[in-house]
Amino acid sequence: MHRQRKVGIMGGTFNPIHFGHLLLGETAYQQFALDEVLFMPTKNPYYKKLSNSVTEEDRVKMVQLAIKDNSHFTFSGEELDREGTTYTVETLRDLTKRNPDCDYYFIMGADSLYHIESWKDTAQVLKMAVILVAGRGDLSSSLNSQIEYIENKYDASIHFLNSPSLQISSNDIRRRVQTGESIRYLLPRDVEDYIYEHGLYREDKNESGRDQKGLKEPVI
Ligand code: NAP
Repeated sequence: MHRQRKVGIMGGTFNPIHFGHLLLGETAYQQFALDEVLFMPTKNPYYKKLSNSVTEEDRVKMVQLAIKDNSHFTFSGEELDREGTTYTVETLRDLTKRNPDCDYYFIMGADSLYHIESWKDTAQVLKMAVILVAGRGDLSSSLNSQIEYIENKYDASIHFLNSPSLQISSNDIRRRVQTGESIRYLLPRDVEDYIYEHGLYREDKNESGRDQKGLKEPVI
């Protein structure tokens, strides 16, 4: 009998990728018996300005290094080939059209679920993918009511990911590099080495810009 492939999408700016992202992907894989998890760097997030010391190639390389020892994690350059602003709805439209034998599970942290109504075509996104969401620190407590609100409003399928909470953020890692603090044990060793070898995040070359997500990372 035909069975749909269950494919997780771990999308992110990944500037840089760290153990929080990897643990989220692994938890989703296990808890929802996914066939694979695609790690998909965004090309051009409209809600963040990337600092000019990091290139798209750097973000891609760091993701590839981070996932290389996990056979059910797959790198996806799906969004990199598309010019212009990256919107998840377009990614899901392309993927579902090309791969009708796959069901997609979009993996995210709590902040993203709180802001999903500001995404382009939220209703379409929620039609094309099941959402797997993890709590983080103080955001966990009210997450259930947000899940319920979005589920009811959009007839969406949203599930809670039972992931251990790691208080690691890309923003903090960049700050640490800049101030000379250790980043050991926050991200894979190969990614750490890449950051130092390529001199990433050493200087504050951030451009000014408004974080439209209104989150922890005003300028990245
Ligand atoms: P990111 O900062 O690299 O984070 C990727 C994901 O990992 C986020 O969901 C984030 O959750 C989660 N995360 C980070 N650190 C974590 C930790 N320590 N523990 C648990 N979870 C952690 O990427 P992003 O810029 O938020 O983008 C995420 C995805 O959403 C991308 O695929 C992007 O294209 C998509 N997106 C789409 C639109 C749109 O289509 N209009 C708008 C915004 C984002 P939090 O959300 O809680 O930080």
